[in-house]
Amino acid sequence: MTGNIRMAESIGQDENVWSDEWDQLTPESEIRMWDFYGLRHWIAKFIPRKGKTIEAGCGLGRYVFYFSEMGINIEGVDFSQPTIDYLNEWKLKNRYDAVFKKGNILNLEYPDNSLSGYISLGVIEHFIEGPQNALAEAYRVLRPGGIAIISTPSVSFYILYQKIRKKVKNIVKRTLFRKVITEKFYQYWYRPGKLKKFIEGSGLHITRYGSADLLFAFCEAGNYTEKYIKEGTFGYKFSNKHENGILNFIGAQSITVSVKAAEKMFCFFCGELKSNQESLSRFDVPVCSECECRDESKYYKKDSVARYCAPYIINPPVKKGEKFICNFCGKDSESSDIFEDYGFEKKVCSACLKIPEINIKLSNESVKPVWRKRMERNA
Ligand SMILES: [Zn+2]
Ligand SMILES: [Zn+2]
Repeated sequence: MTGNIRMAESIGQDENVWSDEWDQLTPESEIRMWDFYGLRHWIAKFIPRKGKTIEAGCGLGRYVFYFSEMGINIEGVDFSQPTIDYLNEWKLKNRYDAVFKKGNILNLEYPDNSLSGYISLGVIEHFIEGPQNALAEAYRVLRPGGIAIISTPSVSFYILYQKIRKKVKNIVKRTLFRKVITEKFYQYWYRPGKLKKFIEGSGLHITRYGSADLLFAFCEAGNYTEKYIKEGTFGYKFSNKHENGILNFIGAQSITVSVKAAEKMFCFFCGELKSNQESLSRFDVPVCSECECRDESKYYKKDSVARYCAPYIINPPVKKGEKFICNFCGKDSESSDIFEDYGFEKKVCSACLKIPEINIKLSNESVKPVWRKRMERNA
């Protein structure tokens, strides 16, 4: 009975709604959107290089494809069987290595303490009863020292304006004795502080949180067009200036990076159970005493922030198969048709990209933000 009532009130967890949504789009277009949600520099920085990571609610697999190209052991989980089937077909046809499985993020098929990473982007806000059950499941599957990267939409300045407008409209309607239509539940918007509280409630230790994607708030304000985000416009300049600054709390996304803290934890760099809890007072990730001496550990010190290395590039032309010399191994190479230059400022060949020391350096120093609109399948 409760189930039926929930179905009627909420479409946020309706499998058909999502299968239909993804049916209109392609993985290629999703990958090419690059930084449409302004989260890539966060994920690229904190995604574990050792052990297995899952993306819970992977949609069309943008990040699963991308991070698989980076040599990261990642599996995409989604509850829509048609979407999973389509992704598996698409990857074979385009010859990409990536793993996709049907699964329920409230009841994952992974043992306790088995994963080094859990990514979930724009998923947990779709539960009408709140995100607690999904977060408890994330905590269960993560191993000690495992990293969770979780985002939801935030109350951007534009969403705030919309909410106030709707409220005022409904008050006017009520005073005029008109009927106020209650909409079906689709999602919640959590500000960074609110999302942080939910995450902490699950037992995870927050190491970073904030908002992201100021640019998208201007895109929303322009009715999802490029009206306010073209290069040189106020929205474009404002977003680039404040993306990592004090005004970033009005961005369109909330993002958190958290750790399953424990007395002994798996080290972020070497993947061995040699890191202790004290390391989390100095680093954003668990680091063992040997790995503290690594060059890459400097990026993960408490005062180091994930950020882009350049201003946004809006709607750049698609660059297929360009020849270049790899900045790391010096060999002649050709860029991937779909991943282009992988969204980094430095030229990197697909073999070098898979080396953790290299992809950590790129992810911390050379993430070039790219903004492209979503393309419909038959557009
Ligand atoms: Zn280590
Ligand atoms: Zn190379």
